[in-house]
Amino acid sequence: MKKGDQVINTRAAKILIIDDERDVVELLALTLQKKGYETIQAFDGPEAWEKTQSETPDLIILDLMLPDLDGWEICRMIRGNERKRIRETAILILSARAQHEDRIHGLELGADDYLTKPFSLTELMIRVDKILRKKQAICGLYEEVDQLRCKMQEQEVGLRKVIHDLKTPLLSMGASAKLLMRQSNREESLNFLKSIYENSLNLTRWLEELLLFSDSPFEGMMSEMREIEMPTLVKRTVDLLRASGRDKEIDIELRADSNLPPVFCNERWMQRALENLLSNALKYTPEGGKIEVGVSLSAEGESVEIAVKDNGIGIFAQDLSRIFEPFQRGLNASGEKGIGLGLSLVKEVVELHAGKIDVQSQPQKGSTFSIVLPIRKGSGEKGGEKVVKNFTKNLHSLNKMITEEN
Ligand code: ADP
Repeated sequence: MKKGDQVINTRAAKILIIDDERDVVELLALTLQKKGYETIQAFDGPEAWEKTQSETPDLIILDLMLPDLDGWEICRMIRGNERKRIRETAILILSARAQHEDRIHGLELGADDYLTKPFSLTELMIRVDKILRKKQAICGLYEEVDQLRCKMQEQEVGLRKVIHDLKTPLLSMGASAKLLMRQSNREESLNFLKSIYENSLNLTRWLEELLLFSDSPFEGMMSEMREIEMPTLVKRTVDLLRASGRDKEIDIELRADSNLPPVFCNERWMQRALENLLSNALKYTPEGGKIEVGVSLSAEGESVEIAVKDNGIGIFAQDLSRIFEPFQRGLNASGEKGIGLGLSLVKEVVELHAGKIDVQSQPQKGSTFSIVLPIRKGSGEKGGEKVVKNFTKNLHSLNKMITEEN
């Protein structure tokens, strides 16, 4: 046995032997008992079904040609049963029906194995042992998954508490900065206070979004889907960030095709995604740079494309494939603050809308991020569940990060 192999005790397993030939049942019972298994017996269909339910055996050895209720039907009833314990009973079919089609049919109905009569006792024992080992290993895995799920839920509760605790001091910082802004007339202090105020607002909003996502991300997002005029939304986002652009003397140019059809989307989250792309462009473009934002119809007329192009630091080729993953940053990004979550959020939002995101970039020359969103109404519903799963995963990574930092 290899190091780390699980030692599974299958000897205490309970086995129900179902066959209308008494000799077969007795022989099997004796052999199995000698090996340490507990056995129960049934000689017709109804008795077999009754014992399957009352005794909940780990494995049944099932003959097919039974009086009143045949083995195929029992197999079907077990696999379709509402009780998990019964549904997961291991089944070894032991039958005189040796046709290839019978075997296939048995396995298709959910039997774990199929052995034909006449049979070798040694082979049957090996198969029984194998099935039970597999079953126990699977049960062990289920238990581990349950334990992990509980642990993750506990961690999520912890994370929600941390978020709540962080929100209060942040809000009070923002409020104090606002108060001081009213009293100060020195331009330098005003700029610092403005930055404290805006950052505390941003962080509070971000924390609120995390809370929103951990409540019921998918439902919240889907209920707010409607038809949105993209040029209007993009313009609003650009206007929001224009002031930050001016601070760095970066010009933001916006070009939008006229008469674009609306896109079915969640306005709030799409704006958040666009804000992330645009603030990245501002962050990773040195003073005096240029950003161009374009909104246009795709060549086939089936989607709207939004492109954010900058002439900033660019991204190394080896970083391009991973920057959309949570907590991944480019090798040349260390000069700017960030934790590597922005683009993963953009990707999640875009995928929720059944859209695609792409990046073209050259170091020292600049980057172009493009989002392509399908126009068809309702197409954004595809992939929603995946997004929820991914976001929950990100939330857990974030939770892990916070816990590790503590
Ligand atoms: P963050 O900016 O917090 O690091 P993001 O997820 O928004 O996280 O971005 C991931 C990485 O992608 C960044 O660290 C950076 O390396 C790269 N990146 C994103 N946008 C740009 C851009 N416009 N120009 C250059 N690099 C970028």
